[in-house]
Amino acid sequence: MGRIHVLSETVANQIAAGEVVERPASVLKEMLENSLDAGATRIRISVEAGGKKLMQITDNGWGMVRDDALLAFERHATSKIRNAEDLLRVATLGFRGEALPSIASVSRLRLETRAKEESSGTIVEINGGKIARVDEAGLPAGTSIAVRDLFFNVPARKKFLKSESTELSHIASLVTHYALAHPDKHFELHSAANAMLVAPPVGGHRERVYQVFGKQTLDQLIPMAARQVLERIGLPQPPPWRRTEKDDDDDQESGRGPSASGEMRVHGFVSKPEIQKLNRNSIFVFVNGRLIRDRLVQHALIEAYRNIIPPTVYPVVLLFLELPAAEVDVNVHPSKTEVRFRQPTAMHDFVRDSVRAALIEARPVPRFVTEMRARATGSRALTPRAEPWAPSSRLVSGPEAAPQFESAGGFSLEATLEPTVAERFQFEGGIALEADAAVPPARVVEKSSPLPELERGEGNPGLRVPDSGCAPALEVNEPEPTLSALGTLRPLGQIRNSFILAVNEDGLWIIDQHVAHERVLFERVLQQRAVERVESQRLLMPLLLELSPAQQAVFAEISDELERNGFESEPFGARSVAVKVAPAGVGAAEVEHMLHELLDQFSREEQALNLEKIRARIAASIACHAAIKVNMPLERNKMEWLLAELAKTEHPMSCPHGRPVVLRYSVKDIQKAFKRI
Ligand code: ADP
Ligand code: MG
Repeated sequence: MGRIHVLSETVANQIAAGEVVERPASVLKEMLENSLDAGATRIRISVEAGGKKLMQITDNGWGMVRDDALLAFERHATSKIRNAEDLLRVATLGFRGEALPSIASVSRLRLETRAKEESSGTIVEINGGKIARVDEAGLPAGTSIAVRDLFFNVPARKKFLKSESTELSHIASLVTHYALAHPDKHFELHSAANAMLVAPPVGGHRERVYQVFGKQTLDQLIPMAARQVLERIGLPQPPPWRRTEKDDDDDQESGRGPSASGEMRVHGFVSKPEIQKLNRNSIFVFVNGRLIRDRLVQHALIEAYRNIIPPTVYPVVLLFLELPAAEVDVNVHPSKTEVRFRQPTAMHDFVRDSVRAALIEARPVPRFVTEMRARATGSRALTPRAEPWAPSSRLVSGPEAAPQFESAGGFSLEATLEPTVAERFQFEGGIALEADAAVPPARVVEKSSPLPELERGEGNPGLRVPDSGCAPALEVNEPEPTLSALGTLRPLGQIRNSFILAVNEDGLWIIDQHVAHERVLFERVLQQRAVERVESQRLLMPLLLELSPAQQAVFAEISDELERNGFESEPFGARSVAVKVAPAGVGAAEVEHMLHELLDQFSREEQALNLEKIRARIAASIACHAAIKVNMPLERNKMEWLLAELAKTEHPMSCPHGRPVVLRYSVKDIQKAFKRI
């Protein structure tokens, strides 16, 4: 008995219409989703010429009986939904019944399939939408579809395809991310004779990240997981002011109350603050196994990182959200890359809070080597004056400027010329949605070795695994140091009156005194601002500030907030203001500089200013200007005080601009450098 049926016209009309065949990666996405929907545990893909010449996908799913093999190419023929209600709780990746006919109409397609329950299989060949051949044949169970010469009959669209390498990078990124979402399945991607990805099943997402990207990437990520009970499943969430007790009672009566509740779950990886990307291309979100682009989730993530990384950069995120099917409407976009949440606010806050909690809990300490390579790829506009390692820095001057730190044992602190850690992340690209994918295919191959343990453990007979000779050993037991230990640090002294050297049982630490104090003050100003008590001081002489027209406009907009942050000023003539009171700790000489800098920053801002952003910027600026400077000798008790205060902050690991505050040379690093281990 076949599974596929043609949907009634009414249901078909309710499906988000549109073209799904855009480029090779979008074709492959549909086929990949079909294989997953068919319960496949092994998926092998091979492509030629970036998929333009050939894309072949072979799976071990449940296959199709002969009738289905033909029906599958009818418009709106699907085995996944039947009626309009089913559309409200789609549990499969596909449901539109349109992909195969669309693909077959613009390529030369060959389907080979055998349902497990049948003894022989079926071959179907379709050229540009016309059936050329249907035959019975002895075939292995499962399905194999080869799509050749995409757009051969639509030259106008063929012309718009990008270079082979661009199309291939989209494909690599797509397959990689589906492999990440399904660690229990076997994925392979070959391009011509090149094995780009061979990922046998592993025990979980962590192992998969390791398998695909290697240890270095894994080390830069913080694993996270959270769950939350969700009530009123399948119903839109009434806004809080409309929610009455009756709603709650109704829920109870209709059996939808707590008894009908489900949960939302989230798990995945978020990057440490030192990883900063210039765009959102490294944020990957799966909702119920479906790779999506969603503004709401992106916003929640940005909120979670607020004040941890600068507002102009983005983290690396791999997030898997799971919700009851009735909670997500997947029928909003033809290529199914967008969804609508029925309870958007609950969803948004859940993601924001759980990611934030993970970041706070991890409080990871950057390590020397990592840190040196992890210099932000983000905007430097926010950090114009303190870049200790840059040759232009006022800290180190003269010809010996930048790469001057070196030590024995191959452990070098020089400003490395290697690509930064950020650049090493290979999440870039992003399925067919992004136009600028840039995954060099070779990278994936190089990192695709399995975990050493797993290789030994589960037998995967017949699998060809790439040479794992250079795979780094996964150091599972190395405890991640946290900054809670900062409280136990004993300061030893300063390097060049700028960096505090301290020790504890975890190793040797270097603390950038300026950014450490900046972090302390930043959090303090925000707290004081929240209760309207920012400390201020009267200047001996009012400070006259001449403002450009752009600065005047910004000043008018933020003057109220400036006042609440300890400034007092009044207009002085047409183009000037007189500042009489300034926040405590900011010297008179600094006030002018600080205000000009702030006003300029805001006037360059392209997006609308929101209050929270304004507050954070002002607090960051006060903190920066009031903080202890570099090149300043500190007494021991002052250093002790600073370390203790830093330990109390919520995010001691990075300054408000996202730069690291501390570096740690772990005992292990030390032992390694001395060749004791
Ligand atoms: P949809 O996935 O939306 O149902 P498609 O056009 O992608 O529509 O596929 C049509 C039908 O063909 C599917 O519903 C499924 O029953 C069948 N099918 C497609 N690919 C496979 C596969 N790899 N294995 C088994 N069945 C498949
Ligand atoms: Mg499909």
